Amino acid sequence: MSSEQDPSNALPTQPEAAGKQDNPEVPAWRPPKITKPRGSSPHVEKALTDVRSKIYSRSVTGIFARWRVILVVLTQAIFYGLPWINWNGRQAVLFDLAERKFYLFGMVMWPQDVIYLAVLLVLSAFSLFLFTAMAGRLFCGYACPQTVYTEIFMWVERKVEGDRVARIRLDEQPWSLRKVRIKATKHILWILIAWWTGSTFIGYFAPIRELGMDLFTLSLGPWQWFWMVFYAVATWGNAGFLREAVCKYMCPYARFQSVMVDHDTFVVTYDHVRGEPRGGRSRKIDHKEAGLGDCVDCSLCVQVCPTGIDIRDGLQYMCIGCGACVDVCDQVMDKMNYDKGLIRYTSGRAIEERMTQSQVRKRMLRPRVIVYIALLSLIALAFVYSLATRTTLRMDIIRDRGVLGREIPGGLIENVYRLQMMNAAEEPVTLTLGVEGAPGLSISTAQGEEKSIRLEAASNALVPVVVRVPAGELEPGLHDIVLRVDSDESSGPGRKVLEKTRFYVPQ
Ligand code: SF4
Ligand code: SF4
Repeated sequence: MSSEQDPSNALPTQPEAAGKQDNPEVPAWRPPKITKPRGSSPHVEKALTDVRSKIYSRSVTGIFARWRVILVVLTQAIFYGLPWINWNGRQAVLFDLAERKFYLFGMVMWPQDVIYLAVLLVLSAFSLFLFTAMAGRLFCGYACPQTVYTEIFMWVERKVEGDRVARIRLDEQPWSLRKVRIKATKHILWILIAWWTGSTFIGYFAPIRELGMDLFTLSLGPWQWFWMVFYAVATWGNAGFLREAVCKYMCPYARFQSVMVDHDTFVVTYDHVRGEPRGGRSRKIDHKEAGLGDCVDCSLCVQVCPTGIDIRDGLQYMCIGCGACVDVCDQVMDKMNYDKGLIRYTSGRAIEERMTQSQVRKRMLRPRVIVYIALLSLIALAFVYSLATRTTLRMDIIRDRGVLGREIPGGLIENVYRLQMMNAAEEPVTLTLGVEGAPGLSISTAQGEEKSIRLEAASNALVPVVVRVPAGELEPGLHDIVLRVDSDESSGPGRKVLEKTRFYVPQ
């Protein structure tokens, strides 16, 4: 059993109390390094033991804890609230799988717009590289869904079962009516949150208001049931039980972050130069004269850590950069009347070269970071420009390969085309057909001999059209022509689409 899981360590530990266990035989401190999992059996055995052991993290207050709360509230307000916002009489954000459309406020995206999704993924990847190079796993500590839901579930757990010591005692007690009641209350609340999360998740793929009614009358479709239950169970399992094991053993980001951080990355770091040799002491003594560093070895930084690690062993791949140990250590330093920041967000170089925080911040802008910023800005600009200038009118031409061209009564040569028309705008549009590229060409719809087509808002249509030319006007063979559609004035700013194709004149 590791020290932080030993119930004797669970009792409140005051630095003053720790001071009664002075131990001058402090082991030599080793410089921080990122520890990686190794494949030898003792390490595997330890990892398996760690997975099985439950971590009882102590609650903490402080500036970073407040930031975590703010980000939990903000991210969840967006996640739970967004599907309920309406825009132009429909859900503002909706991946309508049945209609194969993605509504994003004023934009309607089609499967053909998947390139924007690809660019968005590239942008996210570069942002992750940039933020990791600058400040380690900030995303993990404050905005990752695993951290956010674990934080919410742990908040419920604390409210129902109490803080660390109470939870350890409750788990050690034999089963009783009281224990069943407390555990059942906790799980009911967890399941309600998980169920709400699952329902909200599918509300991004089907209109959430209708979904609410369907859920109320238990008339959801089989896939809707599947995804709601799947997402709810995943939330319950990941945030309620797996928790730090996801960050430690399942998250790929934890594994490759070590190649993205360097000696200048701003990460949660224990200042070993200041802190060592660690050891308990009385507040009244001059610890420097006694040959001690600033760390009173109270173990509070371990007790508050959601992944159960000791940051004093150096930066570890399991550290999610949440800053809980920074908050609690600052409180200990306050009580001892020492300077805050024994554990702080800083870089390895700053600790070794005793740099000030402003010097550390200046070093953040190193060549690698500048390259990431430049690339990210370029891609972001191109993305915004492409979205802003994106046409909302599209046309694909499908040739009828069975009958390329034929002569019809009236001395005309006729070719038939099918136009796949798409109106991605929020307003209906009336389009006028046109054809260019050779003398004597005319175009109309195949059925009604009309020259105009009406497309409803955010809709598509397959329109057969015929292009004709008087016989003898063109040489036999294939001729390059251009089909065009123009929107009329009443459909807003003029839009037109030109598409090249070929006109066939038989022998
Ligand atoms: S680093 Fe701070 S919180 Fe951790 S044991 Fe030392 S004094 Fe306590
Ligand atoms: S070591 Fe500190 S920053 Fe890292 S996960 Fe633990 S409490 Fe959070």
